[in-house]
Amino acid sequence: MLRRLLPAIVAGIVLGSAAPASALIPPDTRCRTGTVALTFDDGPSKEQTPRLLKILRANDAQATFFVQGRFAKKYPEILRQMVRDGHAVENHSWNHPELTTRSDRSVERQLESTQTAIEKAIGRKPGLFRPPYGDTDAGVRAIGKRLELRQQLWTIDTRDWSGLSKSKIRAAALRGLRPHRSNVILMHDNVGNSPATLKAVPSIIKRLRRQGYCLAPLESMMPLGTVSAPSRTVEAGDKPSRLVKITFEMDGPAQRNGSFRVRAVSGSAQEGIDFRAVDRRVAVHRGQTTAEIRLRIYGDPKPNQAKTLSLRLDQPRGLRIGTRSVAVTIADDAQWEAAVRALIEPVVRPAATLTP
Ligand SMILES: [Zn+2]
Repeated sequence: MLRRLLPAIVAGIVLGSAAPASALIPPDTRCRTGTVALTFDDGPSKEQTPRLLKILRANDAQATFFVQGRFAKKYPEILRQMVRDGHAVENHSWNHPELTTRSDRSVERQLESTQTAIEKAIGRKPGLFRPPYGDTDAGVRAIGKRLELRQQLWTIDTRDWSGLSKSKIRAAALRGLRPHRSNVILMHDNVGNSPATLKAVPSIIKRLRRQGYCLAPLESMMPLGTVSAPSRTVEAGDKPSRLVKITFEMDGPAQRNGSFRVRAVSGSAQEGIDFRAVDRRVAVHRGQTTAEIRLRIYGDPKPNQAKTLSLRLDQPRGLRIGTRSVAVTIADDAQWEAAVRALIEPVVRPAATLTP
Protein backbone atom coordinates (compact mmCIF):
# COMPACT_ATOMS: atom_id res chain seq x y z
CA MET A 1 0.00 0.00 0.00
CA LEU A 2 2.76 2.38 0.99
CA ARG A 3 4.47 1.66 -2.28
CA ARG A 4 1.35 2.76 -4.11
CA LEU A 5 0.74 5.81 -1.96
CA LEU A 6 4.24 7.13 -2.37
CA PRO A 7 3.90 8.42 -5.93
CA ALA A 8 0.75 10.24 -4.86
CA ILE A 9 2.51 11.81 -1.90
CA VAL A 10 5.39 12.87 -4.12
CA ALA A 11 2.96 14.17 -6.74
CA GLY A 12 1.14 16.10 -4.02
CA ILE A 13 4.34 17.81 -2.97
CA VAL A 14 5.53 18.56 -6.46
CA LEU A 15 2.21 19.85 -7.72
CA GLY A 16 1.32 21.64 -4.49
CA SER A 17 -1.94 19.76 -4.08
CA ALA A 18 -4.89 21.51 -2.48
CA ALA A 19 -4.82 19.20 0.58
CA PRO A 20 -4.92 21.14 3.85
CA ALA A 21 -1.45 21.46 5.35
CA SER A 22 -2.71 19.88 8.57
CA ALA A 23 -3.70 16.60 6.89
CA LEU A 24 -1.37 13.87 8.09
CA ILE A 25 -1.86 11.72 5.01
CA PRO A 26 -2.30 13.48 1.69
CA PRO A 27 -5.32 12.19 -0.27
CA ASP A 28 -4.55 9.74 -3.03
CA THR A 29 -5.26 12.05 -5.93
CA ARG A 30 -4.72 9.32 -8.49
CA CYS A 31 -8.28 8.06 -8.05
CA ARG A 32 -9.95 11.43 -8.51
CA THR A 33 -11.60 10.40 -11.81
CA GLY A 34 -12.53 6.79 -11.06
CA THR A 35 -11.34 3.22 -11.28
CA VAL A 36 -10.33 1.04 -14.21
CA ALA A 37 -9.81 -2.71 -14.43
CA LEU A 38 -7.54 -3.91 -17.20
CA THR A 39 -8.67 -7.41 -18.16
CA PHE A 40 -6.82 -9.84 -20.41
CA ASP A 41 -8.64 -12.84 -21.86
CA ASP A 42 -7.81 -16.19 -23.45
CA GLY A 43 -4.36 -16.86 -21.97
CA PRO A 44 -2.09 -17.70 -20.53
CA SER A 45 0.15 -17.89 -23.57
CA LYS A 46 3.68 -19.18 -23.20
CA GLU A 47 5.07 -16.31 -25.23
CA GLN A 48 2.86 -13.26 -24.63
CA THR A 49 1.80 -13.58 -21.04
CA PRO A 50 5.27 -13.53 -19.39
CA ARG A 51 6.07 -10.45 -21.48
CA LEU A 52 2.83 -8.79 -20.44
CA LEU A 53 3.50 -9.58 -16.78
CA LYS A 54 6.89 -7.91 -17.10
CA ILE A 55 5.29 -4.78 -18.57
CA LEU A 56 2.68 -4.63 -15.80
CA ARG A 57 5.37 -5.10 -13.14
CA ALA A 58 7.44 -2.30 -14.62
CA ASN A 59 4.39 -0.05 -14.41
CA ASP A 60 3.31 -1.22 -10.94
CA ALA A 61 -0.11 -2.06 -12.38
CA GLN A 62 -2.49 -4.82 -11.30
CA ALA A 63 -4.77 -6.49 -13.83
CA THR A 64 -7.29 -9.32 -14.10
CA PHE A 65 -6.72 -12.40 -16.26
CA PHE A 66 -9.63 -14.45 -17.55
CA VAL A 67 -7.80 -17.65 -18.41
CA GLN A 68 -8.84 -20.72 -20.34
CA GLY A 69 -8.72 -23.89 -18.28
CA ARG A 70 -6.73 -25.86 -20.86
CA PHE A 71 -3.92 -23.25 -20.72
CA ALA A 72 -4.12 -22.90 -16.96
CA LYS A 73 -3.46 -26.63 -16.77
CA LYS A 74 -0.58 -26.37 -19.22
CA TYR A 75 1.11 -23.32 -17.68
CA PRO A 76 0.39 -23.31 -13.94
CA GLU A 77 3.65 -21.49 -13.21
CA ILE A 78 2.46 -18.47 -15.24
CA LEU A 79 -0.71 -18.36 -13.09
CA ARG A 80 1.40 -18.47 -9.95
CA GLN A 81 3.46 -15.55 -11.26
CA MET A 82 0.23 -13.61 -11.86
CA VAL A 83 -0.76 -14.10 -8.22
CA ARG A 84 2.73 -13.19 -6.96
CA ASP A 85 2.47 -9.95 -8.93
CA GLY A 86 -0.89 -9.07 -7.36
CA HIS A 87 -3.11 -9.86 -10.36
CA ALA A 88 -6.45 -11.65 -10.20
CA VAL A 89 -7.01 -14.96 -12.05
CA GLU A 90 -10.58 -15.69 -13.19
CA ASN A 91 -12.47 -18.27 -15.27
CA HIS A 92 -12.92 -17.96 -19.07
CA SER A 93 -14.12 -21.55 -19.74
CA TRP A 94 -12.01 -24.57 -20.64
CA ASN A 95 -11.59 -24.10 -24.40
CA HIS A 96 -13.65 -21.07 -25.39
CA PRO A 97 -16.94 -22.35 -26.87
CA GLU A 98 -20.12 -20.31 -27.31
CA LEU A 99 -21.74 -21.37 -24.07
CA THR A 100 -25.36 -20.67 -25.07
CA THR A 101 -25.08 -23.29 -27.81
CA ARG A 102 -24.01 -25.99 -25.33
CA SER A 103 -26.03 -28.24 -23.05
CA ASP A 104 -26.22 -27.37 -19.36
CA ARG A 105 -23.98 -30.31 -18.57
CA SER A 106 -21.37 -29.14 -21.07
CA VAL A 107 -21.44 -25.54 -19.75
CA GLU A 108 -21.01 -26.89 -16.25
CA ARG A 109 -18.02 -28.99 -17.34
CA GLN A 110 -16.45 -26.00 -19.12
CA LEU A 111 -16.60 -23.88 -16.00
CA GLU A 112 -15.98 -26.56 -13.40
CA SER A 113 -12.90 -28.09 -15.02
CA THR A 114 -11.42 -24.60 -15.33
CA GLN A 115 -12.10 -23.92 -11.64
CA THR A 116 -10.23 -27.11 -10.82
CA ALA A 117 -7.25 -26.31 -13.07
CA ILE A 118 -6.94 -22.82 -11.57
CA GLU A 119 -7.29 -24.08 -8.02
CA LYS A 120 -4.59 -26.69 -8.66
CA ALA A 121 -2.27 -23.96 -9.93
CA ILE A 122 -2.83 -21.21 -7.37
CA GLY A 123 -4.67 -22.86 -4.49
CA ARG A 124 -7.80 -20.79 -4.85
CA LYS A 125 -10.93 -20.94 -6.96
CA PRO A 126 -11.98 -17.87 -8.95
CA GLY A 127 -15.13 -15.99 -7.98
CA LEU A 128 -15.76 -14.54 -11.46
CA PHE A 129 -16.31 -15.99 -14.91
CA ARG A 130 -16.51 -14.35 -18.28
CA PRO A 131 -18.33 -16.30 -21.00
CA PRO A 132 -16.32 -16.47 -24.26
CA TYR A 133 -17.49 -13.80 -26.76
CA GLY A 134 -19.75 -12.45 -24.00
CA ASP A 135 -22.19 -15.11 -25.21
CA THR A 136 -24.51 -15.72 -22.28
CA ASP A 137 -28.09 -16.13 -21.09
CA ALA A 138 -30.01 -16.78 -17.89
CA GLY A 139 -29.15 -20.50 -18.05
CA VAL A 140 -25.40 -19.84 -18.29
CA ARG A 141 -25.58 -17.35 -15.42
CA ALA A 142 -27.52 -19.85 -13.29
CA ILE A 143 -24.90 -22.56 -13.86
CA GLY A 144 -22.22 -20.04 -12.90
CA LYS A 145 -24.12 -19.22 -9.74
CA ARG A 146 -24.35 -22.90 -8.80
CA LEU A 147 -20.57 -23.07 -9.09
CA GLU A 148 -20.27 -19.91 -6.96
CA LEU A 149 -19.17 -17.87 -9.98
CA ARG A 150 -20.47 -14.43 -10.74
CA GLN A 151 -20.53 -13.36 -14.38
CA GLN A 152 -18.50 -10.32 -15.38
CA LEU A 153 -18.40 -8.84 -18.88
CA TRP A 154 -16.73 -5.51 -19.79
CA THR A 155 -17.61 -1.88 -20.43
CA ILE A 156 -14.96 -1.14 -23.08
CA ASP A 157 -14.04 -3.51 -25.91
CA THR A 158 -10.72 -2.52 -27.49
CA ARG A 159 -11.25 -5.05 -30.31
CA ASP A 160 -7.52 -5.66 -30.04
CA TRP A 161 -8.05 -9.15 -31.46
CA SER A 162 -9.08 -7.75 -34.84
CA GLY A 163 -5.63 -6.68 -35.96
CA LEU A 164 -5.69 -3.06 -34.80
CA SER A 165 -2.50 -1.03 -34.43
CA LYS A 166 -1.07 0.00 -31.07
CA SER A 167 -2.47 3.53 -31.36
CA LYS A 168 -5.94 2.28 -32.41
CA ILE A 169 -6.05 -0.11 -29.42
CA ARG A 170 -5.02 2.69 -27.09
CA ALA A 171 -7.62 5.07 -28.53
CA ALA A 172 -10.34 2.44 -28.14
CA ALA A 173 -9.35 1.78 -24.53
CA LEU A 174 -9.48 5.44 -23.58
CA ARG A 175 -12.49 6.50 -25.66
CA GLY A 176 -15.09 4.64 -23.62
CA LEU A 177 -13.95 5.74 -20.14
CA ARG A 178 -16.68 7.02 -17.86
CA PRO A 179 -15.51 9.21 -14.96
CA HIS A 180 -16.57 8.11 -11.47
CA ARG A 181 -17.85 4.77 -12.74
CA SER A 182 -16.36 1.30 -12.85
CA ASN A 183 -14.59 0.86 -16.17
CA VAL A 184 -13.66 -2.61 -17.37
CA ILE A 185 -11.36 -2.72 -20.41
CA LEU A 186 -11.26 -5.91 -22.49
CA MET A 187 -7.97 -6.93 -24.09
CA HIS A 188 -6.30 -10.24 -24.95
CA ASP A 189 -2.95 -11.84 -24.23
CA ASN A 190 -3.34 -14.94 -26.37
CA VAL A 191 -4.64 -14.16 -29.83
CA GLY A 192 -2.76 -13.60 -33.07
CA ASN A 193 -2.59 -9.85 -32.61
CA SER A 194 -1.52 -9.70 -28.99
CA PRO A 195 1.88 -8.15 -29.85
CA ALA A 196 0.06 -4.89 -30.65
CA THR A 197 -1.85 -5.15 -27.36
CA LEU A 198 1.38 -5.54 -25.43
CA LYS A 199 2.81 -2.48 -27.15
CA ALA A 200 -0.29 -0.46 -26.28
CA VAL A 201 -0.45 -1.38 -22.59
CA PRO A 202 2.28 0.93 -21.17
CA SER A 203 0.86 4.02 -22.80
CA ILE A 204 -2.72 3.06 -21.81
CA ILE A 205 -1.60 2.82 -18.17
CA LYS A 206 0.26 6.14 -18.36
CA ARG A 207 -2.71 7.98 -19.87
CA LEU A 208 -5.18 6.46 -17.43
CA ARG A 209 -3.12 7.66 -14.51
CA ARG A 210 -2.61 11.08 -16.05
CA GLN A 211 -6.41 11.38 -16.32
CA GLY A 212 -6.82 10.52 -12.62
CA TYR A 213 -7.88 6.88 -12.86
CA CYS A 214 -6.70 4.15 -10.50
CA LEU A 215 -6.09 0.62 -11.67
CA ALA A 216 -7.68 -2.12 -9.60
CA PRO A 217 -8.32 -5.85 -9.88
CA LEU A 218 -11.84 -6.42 -11.10
CA GLU A 219 -13.00 -8.23 -7.99
CA SER A 220 -12.51 -5.17 -5.80
CA MET A 221 -14.70 -3.11 -8.17
CA MET A 222 -17.51 -5.62 -8.47
CA PRO A 223 -20.95 -4.36 -7.63
CA LEU A 224 -21.77 -5.55 -4.15
CA GLY A 225 -24.12 -8.49 -3.89
CA THR A 226 -27.67 -7.94 -2.70
CA VAL A 227 -29.29 -9.96 0.06
CA SER A 228 -33.03 -10.57 0.16
CA ALA A 229 -35.58 -13.01 1.57
CA PRO A 230 -39.18 -13.81 0.68
CA SER A 231 -42.00 -13.45 3.20
CA ARG A 232 -42.82 -16.78 4.74
CA THR A 233 -45.22 -18.70 6.90
CA VAL A 234 -44.11 -21.00 9.68
CA GLU A 235 -46.16 -23.32 11.81
CA ALA A 236 -46.28 -22.85 15.52
CA GLY A 237 -46.71 -26.58 16.10
CA ASP A 238 -47.84 -28.16 19.33
CA LYS A 239 -44.49 -28.37 21.10
CA PRO A 240 -43.55 -25.70 23.66
CA SER A 241 -41.13 -24.22 21.13
CA ARG A 242 -39.40 -24.99 17.88
CA LEU A 243 -36.63 -23.55 15.73
CA VAL A 244 -37.42 -22.53 12.19
CA LYS A 245 -34.80 -21.84 9.56
CA ILE A 246 -34.99 -18.49 7.77
CA THR A 247 -32.87 -18.33 4.62
CA PHE A 248 -31.51 -15.12 3.10
CA GLU A 249 -30.44 -15.24 -0.53
CA MET A 250 -27.71 -13.35 -2.35
CA ASP A 251 -28.31 -12.38 -5.99
CA GLY A 252 -25.04 -14.17 -6.81
CA PRO A 253 -22.03 -15.55 -4.96
CA ALA A 254 -20.72 -12.94 -2.51
CA GLN A 255 -17.56 -11.37 -3.89
CA ARG A 256 -16.16 -10.62 -0.45
CA ASN A 257 -16.92 -11.40 3.15
CA GLY A 258 -19.82 -9.30 4.38
CA SER A 259 -22.53 -9.17 6.98
CA PHE A 260 -25.81 -7.53 7.88
CA ARG A 261 -27.87 -7.06 11.02
CA VAL A 262 -31.18 -8.86 11.59
CA ARG A 263 -33.70 -7.88 14.25
CA ALA A 264 -37.05 -9.53 14.92
CA VAL A 265 -39.75 -6.93 15.49
CA SER A 266 -43.11 -7.72 17.09
CA GLY A 267 -46.28 -7.42 15.06
CA SER A 268 -49.36 -9.26 16.24
CA ALA A 269 -46.83 -11.88 17.37
CA GLN A 270 -45.15 -10.72 20.56
CA GLU A 271 -41.47 -11.04 21.33
CA GLY A 272 -40.98 -13.23 24.39
CA ILE A 273 -44.47 -14.76 24.06
CA ASP A 274 -44.66 -15.96 20.47
CA PHE A 275 -40.99 -15.84 19.46
CA ARG A 276 -37.58 -15.34 20.99
CA ALA A 277 -35.84 -12.00 20.46
CA VAL A 278 -33.32 -11.83 17.60
CA ASP A 279 -30.78 -9.05 17.19
CA ARG A 280 -27.57 -10.20 15.60
CA ARG A 281 -25.19 -9.88 12.69
CA VAL A 282 -25.35 -12.51 9.99
CA ALA A 283 -22.13 -13.23 8.12
CA VAL A 284 -21.98 -13.94 4.39
CA HIS A 285 -18.69 -15.42 3.33
CA ARG A 286 -17.02 -14.95 -0.02
CA GLY A 287 -18.52 -17.39 -2.53
CA GLN A 288 -21.68 -18.05 -0.51
CA THR A 289 -25.08 -17.57 -2.11
CA THR A 290 -27.18 -17.92 1.06
CA ALA A 291 -27.06 -17.23 4.78
CA GLU A 292 -29.48 -18.40 7.42
CA ILE A 293 -30.64 -17.82 10.94
CA ARG A 294 -32.84 -19.90 13.23
CA LEU A 295 -35.84 -18.29 14.78
CA ARG A 296 -37.35 -19.80 17.92
CA ILE A 297 -41.14 -19.88 17.82
CA TYR A 298 -43.10 -20.63 20.97
CA GLY A 299 -46.11 -22.90 20.72
CA ASP A 300 -49.44 -21.88 22.15
CA PRO A 301 -51.64 -24.42 23.93
CA LYS A 302 -54.78 -22.68 22.69
CA PRO A 303 -55.80 -22.62 19.05
CA ASN A 304 -54.91 -19.26 17.64
CA GLN A 305 -55.28 -17.05 14.65
CA ALA A 306 -52.15 -16.51 12.58
CA LYS A 307 -49.78 -13.91 14.02
CA THR A 308 -47.06 -11.94 12.33
CA LEU A 309 -43.66 -10.49 13.07
CA SER A 310 -41.07 -8.97 10.82
CA LEU A 311 -37.34 -9.43 10.41
CA ARG A 312 -35.63 -6.10 9.77
CA LEU A 313 -32.37 -6.11 7.83
CA ASP A 314 -29.97 -3.17 8.18
CA GLN A 315 -26.35 -2.08 8.72
CA PRO A 316 -24.96 -3.91 5.68
CA ARG A 317 -21.21 -4.39 5.35
CA GLY A 318 -19.71 -5.54 2.06
CA LEU A 319 -23.14 -6.16 0.51
CA ARG A 320 -26.43 -4.44 -0.25
CA ILE A 321 -29.80 -5.09 1.31
CA GLY A 322 -32.61 -5.86 -1.12
CA THR A 323 -35.38 -6.73 1.36
CA ARG A 324 -35.41 -4.42 4.38
CA SER A 325 -38.34 -6.12 6.09
CA VAL A 326 -39.25 -9.81 5.82
CA ALA A 327 -42.75 -10.70 7.03
CA VAL A 328 -42.97 -13.94 9.00
CA THR A 329 -46.42 -15.36 9.67
CA ILE A 330 -46.81 -17.85 12.49
CA ALA A 331 -49.67 -20.11 11.45
CA ASP A 332 -51.48 -22.35 13.80
CA ASP A 333 -52.93 -24.76 11.29
CA ALA A 334 -52.16 -27.92 13.18
CA GLN A 335 -53.93 -26.71 16.25
CA TRP A 336 -56.90 -25.36 14.35
CA GLU A 337 -57.15 -28.71 12.64
CA ALA A 338 -56.86 -30.54 15.94
CA ALA A 339 -59.55 -28.35 17.43
CA VAL A 340 -61.87 -28.86 14.47
CA ARG A 341 -61.22 -32.61 14.42
CA ALA A 342 -62.04 -32.82 18.11
CA LEU A 343 -65.41 -31.27 17.35
CA ILE A 344 -66.40 -33.43 14.43
CA GLU A 345 -64.78 -36.79 15.10
CA PRO A 346 -65.79 -39.21 17.81
CA VAL A 347 -62.93 -39.30 20.22
CA VAL A 348 -61.62 -42.80 20.73
CA ARG A 349 -59.43 -43.19 23.72
CA PRO A 350 -57.72 -46.29 25.04
CA ALA A 351 -59.12 -47.61 28.26
CA ALA A 352 -58.34 -45.08 30.85
CA THR A 353 -55.37 -45.82 32.97
CA LEU A 354 -55.74 -44.11 36.23
CA THR A 355 -52.62 -42.70 37.62
CA PRO A 356 -52.37 -42.07 41.29
ZN1 LIG B 1 -12.11 -14.95 -25.00
